[in-house]
Amino acid sequence: MNRSPATIVAAARPDADPGHRSIVPPIVVSDTFEWADPDTKPAYDYSRTVNPNRDLLVSVLAELEGAAGGAITGSGQSAALLSLLLLPAGATVVAPHDCYGGTYRLIKGFEDKGRLTARFIDLADPAALDLALAERPALLWIETPSNPLLRITDIATVAAKAKQAGALVLADNTLATPCRQRPLTLGCDLVLHSTTKALNGHGDLFGGALLTRDPALAETIQWWANAGGLAGSAQDSSQVLRGLRTLPLRVERQEVSARAVAEWLEGRGEVIQVNYPGLAAHPGHTLAKRQQDGPGFILSFRLRGGGETTRRFLAGLGLITLASSLGGFATLICTPATMTHRGMLPEVQREAGITPDLVRLSVGLEDPADLIADLGHGLACCHV
Ligand code: PLP
Repeated sequence: MNRSPATIVAAARPDADPGHRSIVPPIVVSDTFEWADPDTKPAYDYSRTVNPNRDLLVSVLAELEGAAGGAITGSGQSAALLSLLLLPAGATVVAPHDCYGGTYRLIKGFEDKGRLTARFIDLADPAALDLALAERPALLWIETPSNPLLRITDIATVAAKAKQAGALVLADNTLATPCRQRPLTLGCDLVLHSTTKALNGHGDLFGGALLTRDPALAETIQWWANAGGLAGSAQDSSQVLRGLRTLPLRVERQEVSARAVAEWLEGRGEVIQVNYPGLAAHPGHTLAKRQQDGPGFILSFRLRGGGETTRRFLAGLGLITLASSLGGFATLICTPATMTHRGMLPEVQREAGITPDLVRLSVGLEDPADLIADLGHGLACCHV
C-alpha cells in the first residue's frame, strides 16, 4: 500500500537501535567503524561510503519519490555533478534554457572544458525537442516548475520521447517537492533535489539527493558518490530528516499563502505578469493540475517600469528579505537576473525570458495578510 507523505515522514525510524530503542534516530558521527576481522567487510565500514543517517534519509526520500535508492550529497549542486559523472565522455546533454542558473553553469562549464555537448532548449517547443533528441543525448534534464519562470513541462510526454531516443531522463524536483510531484512515476529515471530548500525548510544547511527507480543505477550512483567523495554529512542528513517531518504541513500552508499573494498581485497595476501555476491565466495551469498535486509556494512576477522600478520596490519591503534561496520558513525575494541566474550571460538570460524586471518570491510561513501588506508598501514605492 502506498503511504501518504505525512505518514512516511512521521514514521521514519532507524531499523535498529538495540542499545536504546530511540524514537528519534541517533546521529552516528563516527568517520569509521570496527571490523570483526580483516576479511569480513561490515555493513558500515567508513562514513564517506556508507552512514546510518544518510541511509535512513535515502530510504525516506525513496519512499516519498517512488525510488529504489540513490545518494545523499553535500548540496543540490553536488547531486547535479553526480548525475553528470554517470555519463560517458563526450555525451550530449539536453537541458531547459530556463533552468536554475547553477545547473546552467555546471553543464556549460563541462561543455566549455570539452567534456560534453550541451543543448539548452525550450522543452515546450516540440520541434526543438525533436531536433535535440535526434542527436541521441545521454541525458535529458527536466526542471518543472522551472526556476524562476514557473514554466511547466509535460513530464510524461517529454520523458517518453527522450527514452525512445535512448536518453536517461532526470527531473529536478526541488520546487515541487515529492508532496506535490513524483517525476519517477511519470517516467523519469532520476530525480534530483536540493534538500537545502523546502525539504530541510529551515535555511540552516546545504544538502542534495539523487534518486532513481532502477536498483542497478542506484548502486552506480552510490559508487560514484563514494568515489568522488560527494556524500552529505550525518549531521546534515539527520537535520534534513527533522525538516522533512513537517514538509507536508509546511507545503500546504505555504501554498495557500502563495495562492493568496499571486491572486492579489494579479490585480495590481504595477505588475505586468504573474507566473504562478495555480492561476487560471498561467499557460501551464491545466498541465500543472494534471501532473502536480498543487501549484506550490514559489511565484515570480514582472514589474512595470523595468530594473529601476524593481529596485525601488525592493527597497520598500520590510518583512520580506532580499536573499537568494527558496523553500524555507521565511519569505525571500530575489531578482534572478542579478542574483540566482547571474551565471548566465545577458543574451542567454534574454532568450530564456529572465528579464531585469523579473522578481521571484518564495512564500514562507508568515501570515499571508502581513506578506500582502508588505508587498503593498513595496509597490507604493514604485511610483515616484
Ligand atoms: N536546483 C534548483 C531548482 C535550485 O533552485 C537550486 C538552488 O537554488 C539547486 C538545484 C542547487 O542547490 P544547492 O544550492 O543546494 O546546491
